[in-house]
Order: sequence, then structure tokens, then C-alpha cells
Amino acid sequence: MTAIAIDGPAGAGKSTIAKQLAKDLGYIYVDTGALYRAVGYYMDKQGVDLGAEDQVVPRLGELTAELKYIDGEQRVLVNGEDVTQKIRTPKMSMAASKVSALPAVRDFLFELQRKIARENDVIMDGRDIGTVVLPDAQVKIYLTASPQERARRRHAELLQKGEKASFEEVLADIVERDYNDSHRAVAPLRQAQDAILVDTTHLDLEKSVERIHQLIKERQSHVDRL
Ligand code: C5P
Repeated sequence: MTAIAIDGPAGAGKSTIAKQLAKDLGYIYVDTGALYRAVGYYMDKQGVDLGAEDQVVPRLGELTAELKYIDGEQRVLVNGEDVTQKIRTPKMSMAASKVSALPAVRDFLFELQRKIARENDVIMDGRDIGTVVLPDAQVKIYLTASPQERARRRHAELLQKGEKASFEEVLADIVERDYNDSHRAVAPLRQAQDAILVDTTHLDLEKSVERIHQLIKERQSHVDRL
């Protein structure tokens, strides 16, 4: 099985790029952020304090999080309920970021992610895929862009979905999530030593996909020659 890991901060373009690449390569696209969002969604619904380990951890046993693929599209199920759309709000982004700092939540989702990669060719995106979940991935990309550019993209996405949010709010959320994700004690967001850095601040979607496609080809032909 082949695994391509794409890590990086929110709004760098990971999911859009990974989805396109997965289609081109015939791999499964695995959005691991959706799993953390699913846990955040469930815990928020139960009214627990999302940062409080003693409130979240005992409830993990009540929860099954699953990923299903329908016509190549990932669906996220929480105890059988399809929450794919519901978890894509700014509130759920922050909820995911909070619960993801808890080691027990990361352990809870670890095996599920590994299992999908054992059974399929995957492009998996997240924060710790190249460093923790799939340290042996054949290709690792660390995708980033300036916070302003990432906020601009997220803001445009939200407006397109008809949600109200100011640019300043979106930027503040991105800066806060970057901070939380890269400063947590367990599996913080960071570039794996063997990951290739791609900065998309000045690249549009098409150019970014092209660039990463090229990197994957180069890396794979290098691995084949070994
Ligand atoms: O990628 P996405 O924005 O959907 O991720 C939501 C949150 O889930 C991130 O801000 C991060 O805190 C957490 N996450 C993580 N590890 C991953 C993927 C996401 O901690 N592999």
C-alpha cells in the first residue's frame, strides 16, 4: 500500500489539494481533521467542557467515529449519524482543536487512521500524519501559507456557504488554532524531518496540485530506484 501524508496548518489548502490528487492517482483521500471534529461535535452536544480531560475522556467509550466512502467522497459518522456537513463550522473547528490536545482523544483515533492506511492507498491529511500516524509514508508534504492568505481563503469559503463571519474573526481563529495545534504537548503540528515544504501563499489551486503531483512522482521514482 502507498501512503502520502500531507500536514500543515488550517487553510493551507490541504483538503482541496489532497482531494484532487487522490482523484488523479486513484487513492482514497482521508481527512483526519474530520475525526477530531466528530469527537468535538459529540462532546459539545453532551455539554462537556471540551478542554477538561476528566469530562471528555470518560465519555469516549460512548462514541463510535467512522469514515465511509460513498462515490469516493468521505462521509463522517458519529454513532451512525452522518455529521459530514454539521462539523464544518467555525465552532466545530475550535471544538476539534480543543479535544485534539487531549492524549486520550489522539489514542482513540490513532488505530482507525492506521487501519485505513493499512487497507488502502491513501492520501491522508492532518497535523501529525508524517510525524506520528504514518511515519513510514512514502511521500510527506508539509503544506503552508501565510496566516493572512489562509484566513482570506477560509473567509471566502464561509461566505460562499452563506455563513456570516468577518475576515478579522477568521484570522483570529486561524492564529489561535495554529498556536494551540503547534504548542500542545502530544503530536504537535510540525514539519517531519523528511517532509517537503510547499508554501502555497502565491500558488493557486491548479499550480499547487501540479507542484505536489510533480513532487510525488519524483519521490516515488526515487523510492523505486532504491
Ligand atoms: O484539518 P481540520 O481543520 O479539519 O482540523 C481540525 C482540528 O483537528 C485541527 O485544528 C487540529 O487541532 C485537529 N487535528 C489534529 N490532528 C490531525 C488533524 C486535525 O490535531 N491529524
